Amino acid sequence: VLQIPRGTRDFASDEMQKRRFVEDKIRLTFKQFGYKEIQTPTFETLELFTAKSGETIIDELYSFKDKGGRDLALRPELTAPVIRFYVDKLQMESKPLKLFYFGNCFRYDRPQKGRYREFMQTGCELIGTDTPEATAELIALAYTILKNIGLKDLKLYIGNLSILSSIFKAFNISKEQQKNLTPLIDKSLFNDVVSCLKDFGFSEKDSQDFIEILQTSDVKKIIKFTEKDDQTKDEMMRLFQILELLKNIFEIKTCEIKLSIVRGLDYYKGVVFEIDAPRLGAEKQLCGGGAYELIPLFGGSKTPTSGFAIGFDRTILALEEEKYKFPEIKLDVYVIPINENLMIKSLEITQNLRKEGLSVDMDLLKRGISKSLKYASSINVEKIIIVGQKELDEDSVTFRDMKTGKQELVKINSLYEKIR
Ligand code: AMP
Repeated sequence: VLQIPRGTRDFASDEMQKRRFVEDKIRLTFKQFGYKEIQTPTFETLELFTAKSGETIIDELYSFKDKGGRDLALRPELTAPVIRFYVDKLQMESKPLKLFYFGNCFRYDRPQKGRYREFMQTGCELIGTDTPEATAELIALAYTILKNIGLKDLKLYIGNLSILSSIFKAFNISKEQQKNLTPLIDKSLFNDVVSCLKDFGFSEKDSQDFIEILQTSDVKKIIKFTEKDDQTKDEMMRLFQILELLKNIFEIKTCEIKLSIVRGLDYYKGVVFEIDAPRLGAEKQLCGGGAYELIPLFGGSKTPTSGFAIGFDRTILALEEEKYKFPEIKLDVYVIPINENLMIKSLEITQNLRKEGLSVDMDLLKRGISKSLKYASSINVEKIIIVGQKELDEDSVTFRDMKTGKQELVKINSLYEKIR
């Protein structure tokens, strides 16, 4: 048997039913917030991703040369493609531009539960404004999407990279040292941060103070820190404003400050946020986003931008973890001809009910009545039509309700009324 590639998955019909159901809900929420859907190609020039993230990203990519010798890559995310699209064709559109997407992404990650080599992201980019109201609305959108799907156990954290930078500055941590520290900070490996700082020659006290300020959600402590620097103070005030808006307008009460959110320090700036589903364990991050600056890098004129990406597969896992009851695939009616001669008439009845908008299937295997009934109950159909010659002679069929077991004779031309 040929094997499926490592880190990829097939989705059986029950899985697809769940995925489409969740997708529809997400699409609806984006539209309620005034976002419009766009699509970009599955592969892009390799340069698009190295421009954004540097050459080291290549290790994490599926990149290849095509037959014309061009360097290409399967997209690992959609922010860079969307911004490329914007700079190329959408710069003249009126602002703010609210764009959302669904797309499969590819990363040469080590596969485990919640981490795949092909996975799906849904997300959005907000181009042309970064007022506190706009930022609060963006964060609320991410949270509302996950709430509207039906998730209950969510944690929303908000950070700010300007504040993080001034914390680095205050502790005299150099850019080079930051490079070593940020991956540890991002993963909340604070013990490792402390030992790394020790290696750099920092005192025990400074190291402890440093990780304390990164871990605290105590507003007073943070304010004390930002007082000295005017620009950071402004960012701090914005952050509080956003928190207030989230609480009062969007009724999100469970939002915490977390200054250790790093994301891509190179192009993210200002507000950043994450949403976790704590029940998922190691791979619990469902969503990451924030304000960033990519448009000038891609040749466009500077405009405030922000956005987020939600891991679609993890969202499904989180719903399953919460024992969410997904709707089942349901056929409205199953039609059973009692013998071969009634196949054509049965097909006609089936097709006429489909025209009315019902989902209808019939026994195409000529299985006979008892096997067909067994099959029908195995796929959970509640309404059965049994087509027999005697009843047909009176323009009727037998209608059976599987739930009650009740059977009755129904005229063919009133079948739809009966079923509806
Ligand atoms: P990122 O672009 O890395 O911020 O990722 C955004 C979201 O995509 C994460 O919060 C995850 O939910 C999801 N994600 C990232 N990488 C993977 C992966 N390899 N497999 C499944 N989901 C992923």
